[in-house]
Amino acid sequence: MTNNGLIWLLGLICLYRNKKIILISHCLLNVNAKVNGLAKYKGVQNELIKLLIDQGIGIIQLPCPEMGCAGIRRWGQVKEQLDTPYFIKYCNEIFTPILDQVIDYQKNGYKVIAIIGVDGSPSCGVGQTCSSEKWGGELANYQNTEEIKNDIKMVNESGIFMEQIKRLLEDNHLYIPMLSVEEDNPANSVVNIQRFLKGEI
Ligand code: SF4
Repeated sequence: MTNNGLIWLLGLICLYRNKKIILISHCLLNVNAKVNGLAKYKGVQNELIKLLIDQGIGIIQLPCPEMGCAGIRRWGQVKEQLDTPYFIKYCNEIFTPILDQVIDYQKNGYKVIAIIGVDGSPSCGVGQTCSSEKWGGELANYQNTEEIKNDIKMVNESGIFMEQIKRLLEDNHLYIPMLSVEEDNPANSVVNIQRFLKGEI
């Protein structure tokens, strides 16, 4: 290849790759992984994914830690139930290959601009997660489920998977902003993410 050809090729490589990547929770690209009854869209979270496509940002889909542990017929759980050495170890295991990619990308001039989780999730919540001291155990022992359902509340904490991701990143001296989609108000979340991408917040 001539020098001119090489310069042209390098130009094309730079032109078609903006070197920006975002990590997103699995179910934002595949709602089927969610606990039965919790889906708020049919397949992908359209508003968010369209925004990322329009901005030319590469997407890495994080694995779903709950799906990998308990499958598609699992019951909905709260943070306290997942706060176990076993689940934490599993979260570390499944994030490690992604962490390796992040390190390699950053080392080579790519930018991992954010992680987007799902607020309310006991695993992937960023600013909010569901919590209960009572939720769990043998359902048949309750006359009705209202008394334990009423104990479930949202607290301003991250879910277990996001906590572990943050810790693993910090251990590797990486700081990546963590954002979230609030499933009851995705439009508002996407506006905030859009503002973040523009550098306004
Ligand atoms: S654990 Fe995370 S990725 Fe899996 S369904 Fe819940 S929020 Fe989505």
